[in-house]
Amino acid sequence: MELLKERIRKDGKVKGTDVLKVDSFLNHQMDVELFAEIGKEFKRRFAGCEINKILTIEASGIGIACVAAQYFHCPVIFAKKTQTKNIAGEVYTSKVYTSKVESFTHGRVYDIIVAKEFLGPGDKVLLIDDFLANGAALEGLAQLVKDAGAELVGAGIVIEKAFQPGGDRLRAKGLRIEALARVQSMNEETGVTFADD
Ligand code: 5GP
Repeated sequence: MELLKERIRKDGKVKGTDVLKVDSFLNHQMDVELFAEIGKEFKRRFAGCEINKILTIEASGIGIACVAAQYFHCPVIFAKKTQTKNIAGEVYTSKVYTSKVESFTHGRVYDIIVAKEFLGPGDKVLLIDDFLANGAALEGLAQLVKDAGAELVGAGIVIEKAFQPGGDRLRAKGLRIEALARVQSMNEETGVTFADD
């Protein structure tokens, strides 16, 4: 998606060898008009898939997913992050699906949860997230969909860091991933290059 790639070239900031900061338009301040173009592009790529739920993960995915959902005309569910702990008590475990995610940016492992009342058999689910790096976030979300007995249609990713292993690994497992910008390399001085440049 050329508009997005131009914006990353202009406003993205490379930190070290593998972190791209896009706080001025995606992750902190949000350019909602750009989000609308992103949402339309996801809709174009997943046209005809009869998606009835979008699932994302807090916090950065929520804004993107909400704007995209206006084009899919469906609700958004965001998986909530909780501290990993032994979930005590039948009441809690019987009401939510849980899976584990290792955070790319913090290295910690945490649980993500979704209430069972919002996801179940018969749902056709699109995952949406801001970044794809090692794939842990997407894998955790995919596990929730599987546990719910719902159908996983695919994943819409705004920025895939294609030099990291998540995309290849999850595509090899059969997950359809549509990434709107695929970063091939990053350098603090020279900036980013894209896989399809
Ligand atoms: P993964 O689970 O695929 O390793 O990482 C994906 C998650 O980590 C995303 O939800 C995103 O919040 C965060 N993340 C991964 N790489 C980056 C990055 O380069 N920049 C930013 N801002 N977030 C990232």
